[in-house]
Amino acid sequence: MKIYKIMKYKYFHVAYLFFTTILLIFLSSEIPVGNMNNKSDSINKCGLKVIAHRGAWKKNGHPQNSIASLRNAIELKVDGSEFDVRITSDDSLVINHDREYNKMVIEKTPYTTLVKYRLSNGEKLPTLREYIAEGLKNNSTTKLICELKSAEAGRERNIYMAEKSIMLAKELNALNYITWISFDYDIVKRISELLPGAEVFYLNGDIAPIELKKASIKGAGYNYSVFRKRPEWIEEAKKEGILLNVWTVNNEDDMDFFISKCFDYITSDEPEILMQKIKEYRQSK
Ligand code: MG
Repeated sequence: MKIYKIMKYKYFHVAYLFFTTILLIFLSSEIPVGNMNNKSDSINKCGLKVIAHRGAWKKNGHPQNSIASLRNAIELKVDGSEFDVRITSDDSLVINHDREYNKMVIEKTPYTTLVKYRLSNGEKLPTLREYIAEGLKNNSTTKLICELKSAEAGRERNIYMAEKSIMLAKELNALNYITWISFDYDIVKRISELLPGAEVFYLNGDIAPIELKKASIKGAGYNYSVFRKRPEWIEEAKKEGILLNVWTVNNEDDMDFFISKCFDYITSDEPEILMQKIKEYRQSK
């Protein structure tokens, strides 16, 4: 019995190594340097790009993370539209912020059960495939800001979700149009390993920019209160070439503060107000 267990363990690791090697070969030629990234590089010194948090939902009353909120963000020509990805019990990737959807824990429920329930505007619960496909339609301005939510099942499941999401983005030729974000350090590290040219932001606010640089992670995307408490991290990030993103900036005083600090990205539930403020700021310069 013991030997059987050891063999099983061994085979799992051999299979894992094999899968990882194939994935690396598959992705090795894929360093995202598409139009949007080039565009963002040229204005990197003071990016001030706006991210609509969970899409542009608030002003027009769309459900958060819906296709309608994504379409609205694209119509507004916002620089980025953020959304949350979770994995179901049967390995589907769906777009939802909370761990539960209609009182069902997403990671413990199959997709076929979840999809029976509609969003409040009648839309079907979007899958990541559908969301990315929609985000590529008639869109030359709005990056897809893909947040991978950790599963409670732990590290192995999270790494699997990250790899599966990347494979899907690659299949849809969307890698150049996606910025990856996560609170989960394992996810952020794995994406940074597999896509060394991609914009990847760590969200949890507990790691100094210099440490992110050492781990080859491109960006710090922290809550506004973290940057307010540790303004030295703003300067440190700029010095070390770490990109800065801040969330969720809805208050106008905070908007002014982070505009004055020349952040690369500012994430807001009020993208219309923030875009107007940045326009006025640029005109005044
Ligand atoms: Mg999110």
